[in-house]
Amino acid sequence: MRLSQYFIPTLKETPSEAQIASHRLMLRAGMVNQETSGIYTWLPLGLRVLEKIQKIVCEEQDRIGCHKVLMPTIQPAELWKKSGRYEAYGKEMLRITDRHEREMLYGPTNEEVITDVVAQYVKSYRALPLVLYQIQWKFRDEIRPRFGVMRGREFLMKDGYSFDLSYEAATDTYKKIYESYLRTFRRMGLTAIPVRADTGAIGGDLSHEFQIVAPTGESTIYYDGKFDSLSAADMTFDIASKLYAAADEMHKADECPIPADHLKTARGIEIGHIFYFGTKYSEPLGAKVTTPDGQTIPLEMGSYGIGVSRLVGAIIEAFHDDKGIIWPEAVAPFKVGLINLKVGDIKIDTLAEGLYTQLSNKGIEVLYDDRDERAGTKFADMDLIGLPWQIVLGNRTVETGMVELKNRKTGEKIEVALDQIADKVC
Ligand code: ATP
Ligand code: MG
Repeated sequence: MRLSQYFIPTLKETPSEAQIASHRLMLRAGMVNQETSGIYTWLPLGLRVLEKIQKIVCEEQDRIGCHKVLMPTIQPAELWKKSGRYEAYGKEMLRITDRHEREMLYGPTNEEVITDVVAQYVKSYRALPLVLYQIQWKFRDEIRPRFGVMRGREFLMKDGYSFDLSYEAATDTYKKIYESYLRTFRRMGLTAIPVRADTGAIGGDLSHEFQIVAPTGESTIYYDGKFDSLSAADMTFDIASKLYAAADEMHKADECPIPADHLKTARGIEIGHIFYFGTKYSEPLGAKVTTPDGQTIPLEMGSYGIGVSRLVGAIIEAFHDDKGIIWPEAVAPFKVGLINLKVGDIKIDTLAEGLYTQLSNKGIEVLYDDRDERAGTKFADMDLIGLPWQIVLGNRTVETGMVELKNRKTGEKIEVALDQIADKVC
């Protein structure tokens, strides 16, 4: 992509409404535009990241055999009346009336819709286990939308729903998804701590929130200090599930199994939440199957959320410095930023254009700064946007045949021969 032709409305000034780094940086890097409180337009650079995150989420869901669907954003109130949540959900639900005076709503979550679908088509244990998921916009009329896309009113969520014949089978599914969540977040470079979370009225211990530690997080979490020494790569089911970690409401100081000097408390950003809830929705919505011995029983269910749009902000909270964003390669909007310091100089333009074509032909995503701007502006913008690698071409390239390769994360710069740079960044 040529920066001169791209749409990245970067800001020089720090927007005054943004209280936290990720919100500031997303506005400054031209990733999103706020339309009204908690509702955003995703601009090209932001959308590329959102799509990379979605792709990782889908690959990991598909890997464990979940099936992708797409449910509507607008749902009939009737289904929510059946489950008993229509009144209970309260003011966070955006309620709509259509021209025929029928009550509708913009879905804050989709248990009712998916259970209704499964109730119609799944009749036998032979179809189980079944996990259906989607990535779809949700609307929750949050009382305090804030921190940009981290707590929006309209936000993108991956929501999955599991259907099993028995409690045992449902817990197996739950474990499988727990494990796949760690893997999903690990691929994004995040060390997500699975904390035991409140299951509300249902009881049991089968609910976990996936939290990343960040001073700007809105949750309080308690966890075994050993978590702090684990890198994203170490965060596997076998390791994580043996260590203590609990959400605020689940942590009881006098019952805590680990000694006080091993216990840590921190602020966390909730990037995912999984839940087993048995027959809470299958019973009222009539999702029943026949068992091998001919009985008819309601399905055992769970639901599994990932905050896809929140993750964009959460990743920036985890990876930035005072110059800007530092994208982990897996979700970076482009892999390489190519800076031409002398636009208009035919020799340098030719070399830069050649390299741009060569990298693009190798399938490397390049953002080519071909603008006629001062070097300082170019360096500052590239650091702000935060692509993992920067390649700089200037007078020296013509004189010595070398380009500068900079690692955005470490700041390390090395000289590489122009004819070797494409292989090097591959
Ligand atoms: P929170 O406690 O942060 O309000 P929640 O527990 O209400 O979240 P869930 O119903 O568990 O949220 O939704 C699944 C995931 O969707 C959450 O783990 C979070 O990552 C994301 N999410 C929830 N609410 C929002 C929001 N208002 N804006 C952006 N992402 C959200
Ligand atoms: Mg939650």
